[in-house]
This record gives sequence, C-alpha cells and structure tokens, in this order.
Amino acid sequence: MKAVALLTALSLCACADNSAEKPMETSEQSPEPPTTPVEKSDAEWKKELTPEQYHVLREAGTERPNGEVYKQFKKQGGGTYYCAGCDAELFSSKEKFDSGCGWPSFYDPSKAKNVKTSTDYKLGYARTEVLCAVCDGHLGHVFTGEGYDTPTDKRYCINGVALKFVPEGAKTDAKPAPKPENDG
Ligand SMILES: [Zn+2]
Repeated sequence: MKAVALLTALSLCACADNSAEKPMETSEQSPEPPTTPVEKSDAEWKKELTPEQYHVLREAGTERPNGEVYKQFKKQGGGTYYCAGCDAELFSSKEKFDSGCGWPSFYDPSKAKNVKTSTDYKLGYARTEVLCAVCDGHLGHVFTGEGYDTPTDKRYCINGVALKFVPEGAKTDAKPAPKPENDG
C-alpha cells in the first residue's frame, strides 16, 4: 500500500507545474534580515508565496531539474541568496559550484546559523534535508562525499524557487541619499 501511494505521489509531482514555471526571484536591494524566528499560518504563506514557492518551502516539494530557474542560476554572477520565505541570508555565489545535477548547488552555506538539517525518509532511504532555520522552510537536500572538487565535498542541492538572489553591489540602504537643496 505504501509503495503504491508513494508512486502516485511521485507521478503527480513529475507532471505538476511544468507549464507555469517562473524564474528565480531577484531583487536589486538586500532585504532586511529577520531578527526573530518567522512563524506564519498556511493561509499567510499561501498569500505571500507563489504556488511553486509554497510547494517547495512549505510542502517540501522539488522543482523540475534543469528548469528556467536553474538556467538563470547558472548565468548569475556574484551575489547573495536569501530565503524566499523570510529573507534570511542562506548562500552566496562564493560557495556556488557547477555540480551538473540540474539544481542550484553550493558546497557550504554563507550564513551557517540560518541553515539547518534534518533526516527525511521520503524516498524510502535516509537523506539529509536542508531547511531555513528562521522560517522552517524546506530548501533541498545535502549530500556528502560524492567526490566533487570543493573544500567540503558537500553538495547543498537547493531548489532555486526557494531562493531570492541579490546581485553584488546592490544597495544595502533602503533610502536613497537625500538630494542637496541647491541644484543650480
Ligand atoms: Zn526562511
């Protein structure tokens, strides 16, 4: 019974949301970092997140590999990746590497305290789930010892829709500098 239910769930996942794929959220401005744990009701999350973001972050879903978000991720230059749910800093381009797996990959978080892990058995064997420590949002999984030539030999395999990208050099101050009165 269990196996049948799992197969049904998997095939549902595979054909869902292929049509309305949206690119990764990007912003020209670094968000305000959250100062306390973020807790919201399902209804609130549904209101704030796109259906794809909700599926990944709140239902531990997985985006399609090699999709629009991944293509965009590969083209992105230097910058910081924030949680699309709560704006906590999670990863940066410094730890980004090309694993060829079809999902955004990092060898380490840039803000370790914002990234936590737990064990999940969704596919019938143990995998290490990666979550945002601030809002408890599902981000992806981390795999170790795969032989990648990186300082940690870890692959944080992260769903791009769960991330918000802010390119390097983006404004950190929300308000522009006041214009001098005298413009003559
Ligand atoms: Zn978060």
